[in-house]
Amino acid sequence: MQTQEIGQGTAAVRLVAVEKIYGTGDNEVAALKRLSMTFDAGTFTAVMGPSGSGKSTFLHCAAGLVRPTRGSVLVGDTDLADLDEAGLTRLRRDRIGFVFQAYNLLPALTVLQNVVLPLRLAGRRASRSQVLAVLDRVGLADRLDHLPGQLSGGQQQRVAIARALVTRPAVVFADEPTGALDTRTAAAVLGLLRESVTAGGQTLVMVTHDPVAASHADRVVFLADGGFVGELYRPTAEAVAARMTRLGAWDDENLTSSAVRSGGGR
Ligand code: ADP
Ligand code: MG
Repeated sequence: MQTQEIGQGTAAVRLVAVEKIYGTGDNEVAALKRLSMTFDAGTFTAVMGPSGSGKSTFLHCAAGLVRPTRGSVLVGDTDLADLDEAGLTRLRRDRIGFVFQAYNLLPALTVLQNVVLPLRLAGRRASRSQVLAVLDRVGLADRLDHLPGQLSGGQQQRVAIARALVTRPAVVFADEPTGALDTRTAAAVLGLLRESVTAGGQTLVMVTHDPVAASHADRVVFLADGGFVGELYRPTAEAVAARMTRLGAWDDENLTSSAVRSGGGR
């Protein structure tokens, strides 16, 4: 069995018995049920599970965007429960990058301005060469003055990745970052994310429903009904798809399922 062989063994993020309950009384939904999980520094983990299994809630709790109802989240040595709102904001700015499926770029700002923004918000001097280097890495050095609306989906997501990487955060969280992209563009975006782990020693946690995307990771963890139900190390797309099928994840996603069976991936 492959178990602890991947990564340096230092926890970048740790969840301990995390519960998240939305609503009250009859409307109560337990989105996470005593979920415990560790992400070693310098590793790339994909998080998968059926729709509604708690993937986004998990990612938001781990990134300090949502406070758990019970349990602990640690980023490095910092217990997020010890931080007030200002402290949480600082931690997110300094140590965490987040990539959303819908890009979430500011439409009135240029590519350059969008990428510089997190540095500005953190009160850090934006060295032009540092920002240009990040934009060069994502292949957008010649699009600095474009507005998001003038770019393709893949290009917008690359801007969002540059924006998440520019502060050199210890951990990058991505919620279905390739969900809106075609197969080829998705592969390029995944290559970029993968490279941030190998080159920058960063930790990457990515929610995806795509077995091909998940196969880029070192490890895939599976959630169902708010809990951990298994993991695969050095995943292949086929093994991931088989596990998802057993979880009943494709019941309402027949298109994805048949695409995987035919080797298309999406
Ligand atoms: P996934 O990302 O795997 O689809 P989510 O984390 O979005 O799952 O949702 C997990 C469960 O929590 C679902 O039952 C969902 O309806 C519920 N949920 C998520 N966000 C909220 C919210 N803000 N208020 C109430 N219920 C929510
Ligand atoms: Mg989700």
